[in-house]
Amino acid sequence: MKAIVKTSAGEGQLELADWPDPRPAADEIKLQIAYAGICGTDIHIIKGEWPCKPPVVLGHEFCGTVVETGKSVRNYKPGDRVVASNPAQTCGRCHSCRAGNPFMCPERVSAGYMIDGAFAEYLCIREERCHHLPDNVSYRQAALGEPLSVAVHAVMERTTVHAGDLVLVSGPGCVGIFTMLIAKLEGARVIVSGTAKDQQRLECAREMGADAVVDISKEDPLEAVRQYSNGAGADLVYECAGVPQSLDVCWEAVKREGALVPVGIYPGPIKTDFNKITMKELSVFGSFGYVWTSWQRSIRLLTEGKIEAEALISHELPLGSYEEAFRRSQDGSAMKVILNPKMNHSAS
Ligand SMILES: [Zn+2]
Ligand SMILES: [Zn+2]
Repeated sequence: MKAIVKTSAGEGQLELADWPDPRPAADEIKLQIAYAGICGTDIHIIKGEWPCKPPVVLGHEFCGTVVETGKSVRNYKPGDRVVASNPAQTCGRCHSCRAGNPFMCPERVSAGYMIDGAFAEYLCIREERCHHLPDNVSYRQAALGEPLSVAVHAVMERTTVHAGDLVLVSGPGCVGIFTMLIAKLEGARVIVSGTAKDQQRLECAREMGADAVVDISKEDPLEAVRQYSNGAGADLVYECAGVPQSLDVCWEAVKREGALVPVGIYPGPIKTDFNKITMKELSVFGSFGYVWTSWQRSIRLLTEGKIEAEALISHELPLGSYEEAFRRSQDGSAMKVILNPKMNHSAS
């Protein structure tokens, strides 16, 4: 099969390779990939800023059709439409696994950087990571199930947003926009902030219902926050960019006794004003990945039409156009790029 492979560590080192077709283990299903989304983590991997085990097929946001099942698989059969989550492999025995939070498993192995992922025609994944797709949820919508589940986990499972709250989302990527949409569903007013390079993404946030959007290179985000909160500050602040400058905005914007929710991941240790937690008596809720229930809820939101995930897709490209796909994902000229392994390169 064709696959986008990171061939060795460091920056770049990518190629569209002929790669062996995967064979499902007893507890795995083999999926023909319908779509695989490109996310910020992929960019970190490509830049060599994220642990990975090359040679490895990239891609960890995906959906597809079951083509084969391992012999102990019970709930899936060929032809089923499926969306699946990472972590691909976990120990199943530790506290976190038993408590239903496999992302916290110390032995967690993720598809798309530690083992082969979804920028390929086929992928094998454990049955327990899969979810059936309702008929009215398209593959294009399901391709965004992963960032949607990250946002569901942050807004609905790690924190509680109340009607009337003011929320600031710093970082208008896919997770940031879904965070805004879910906070809106919960009844909050939401301001989304970004930088000059996020122009298109801020526009998308505005079109999708943000109460205000702020380009922090031109305007003071605190001005909007004050205006919407009678000077008090935001009740909850979701840091979805994973850059220190964004965190600085969050410390200032959050109200005293408010909550800061770090969702973005920094490329390494950062310098920040940690005293703000003490002196503003803040609550800090880290949110990493998702759990089973986040996906069940995401799929319900999609099937009930409460989230129009497809609206975030700006580009659909074949595997062969991976260089363009990664460039656009990085330079802000795309909202969300999805790869379609069935699309012919010449058809692009
Ligand atoms: Zn991702
Ligand atoms: Zn475990």
